[in-house]
Amino acid sequence: MSTIFSQIVEGEIPARIVYEDEATAAFLDANPLSPGHTLVVPKAEYEQLDDVPADVAADLYDTIHRLVPVVEEAVDADGTTVAFNNGEAAGQEVPHVHCHIVPRFEGDGGGPIHSMFGQRPDLDDDELDDIAADIESRA
Ligand code: 5GP
Repeated sequence: MSTIFSQIVEGEIPARIVYEDEATAAFLDANPLSPGHTLVVPKAEYEQLDDVPADVAADLYDTIHRLVPVVEEAVDADGTTVAFNNGEAAGQEVPHVHCHIVPRFEGDGGGPIHSMFGQRPDLDDDELDDIAADIESRA
C-alpha cells in the first residue's frame, strides 16, 4: 500500500503540485497552517530522515533550498518555518518523509519552534558533556 504522498506523486489523487524533478516533488498542504504551506517530498518512499540515502537527501535539500524563497515571494511572507516531523513521537502522521515549508508573517502569533515545548530539561554540565560526547562518537 503506497503512501498518500506516493499517490500524489503518481497522479492517482489530486494535489496542487508546485514543483517536481526526477527525484522530488512539492505540493500545497491540504490543511495549510498558513497561505503557501508547501510540502517537499522525495518521490521514492522513505519513512524517516535516516532512511533517506545521501544522494536523495542532497536532491531533497536542493528542492527545499530552491522553494523557500519562491514560496516566500509568492505569498509575500516575512519568513518561513522549515521543519520535518520526524517519527511518530514528533507528530509525523504520513510515513513518507516530507519537509514543511510554512510561510510566516509578522505578528502571526505562531512563535518559534521553541514554543512547542513546555518545560525544558534541567541538564547540568556533566550531563551535557556526556550527551555531546555520545553524539560526537556516533556522528
Ligand atoms: P505530518 O504531521 O505527517 O508532518 O504532516 C502531514 C501533512 O500532510 C499535514 O500537514 C496534512 O495537512 C498534509 N496532508 C495529509 N493528507 C494530505 C493530502 O491528501 N494532500 C495534501 N496535499 N496534503 C495532505
